[in-house]
Amino acid sequence: MTEAWWPDDDDTDRPLPSSVRVRVPAKINLHLGVGPLRADGFHELRTIYHAISLYDEVTARRGDTLTLTMEGEGAGDLALDESNLIIRAARALADTAKVAAHARLHLRKSIPLAGGLAGGSADAAATLVACDALWGTNLGRDELARIAADLGSDVPFLVHGGTALGTGRGEAVSPVLARAHVWHWVVGIADGGLSTPDVYRELDRLRSGPDGPAPLDDAGELMAALRQRDPAVLAAALGNDLQAAAISLRPALAEVLEAGRVAGALAGLVSGSGPTCVFLAAGAEDAARLAAELEKAGVCREVRVAHGPVLGARSV
Ligand code: ATP
Repeated sequence: MTEAWWPDDDDTDRPLPSSVRVRVPAKINLHLGVGPLRADGFHELRTIYHAISLYDEVTARRGDTLTLTMEGEGAGDLALDESNLIIRAARALADTAKVAAHARLHLRKSIPLAGGLAGGSADAAATLVACDALWGTNLGRDELARIAADLGSDVPFLVHGGTALGTGRGEAVSPVLARAHVWHWVVGIADGGLSTPDVYRELDRLRSGPDGPAPLDDAGELMAALRQRDPAVLAAALGNDLQAAAISLRPALAEVLEAGRVAGALAGLVSGSGPTCVFLAAGAEDAARLAAELEKAGVCREVRVAHGPVLGARSV
């Protein structure tokens, strides 16, 4: 029997691009179940990731060394040295693919820093996709996701996007086969960030006390709600084990959630480790109305509307 033969899919004959621009979304967690602390210092997670239409953009151009510049959210505060996840992602890809890590990288940031929206992880995912195209390494999304897992728990999801179940420390992702449906969100951005490790430590502290918050069930109800495509049903199923800890560290978040409820949100929750809060609306018009009300309440630094799910890091 002859083996099936497929045309060679590699791009070696195609000239490499001189520049690649990649757009990458923020993530929220529709369900964030935090399990016990593991021996390696991470908590065991069961989460439903959801990519929403707030984007950062990473552009990679040819260069003789590896450099990073930026504009937008966090410019002036975010270190652009070897500690930056963008530089770490470029080096990790170059090491794996055995190429020189030469590129001029530029970040246009609109995802707030330390906001619980995984902006840093998003930038790392965008860099992997951009440099893979710039250098012609053509590793493909699954191999990029494997490199991503070493960079951070949320990075593999942001390579893929959509809506996905995350297990382990969040790095093991599998898509959730929700029928195509667009969900509408209002995003309330706070002044200043919250440190993710601090929020996990606060949850451990609260759980060690007599009235510690009860952990969420598995994500079964949330998965069923996604399939129903009814925003009121999804609203009732949203949950985040880190919310109590984020509010404990930043009590003003309770006022933001209350302002969203008064403004007519179907549900509101802290995004990941916070301090960003997200609110579910029934449709695009409701989201615009809710955003205007929330803005009037004056409890957020900035209010934006977004929808999801959207694709992960992609060239534009
Ligand atoms: P997490 O992914 O831990 O939930 P977050 O969404 O709350 O984080 P991020 O903006 O992703 O917050 O980043 C958290 C920290 O990561 C920042 O305070 C910063 O020190 C570091 N960091 C490194 N590279 C980046 C980057 N490109 N963008 C943002 N933060 C970065």
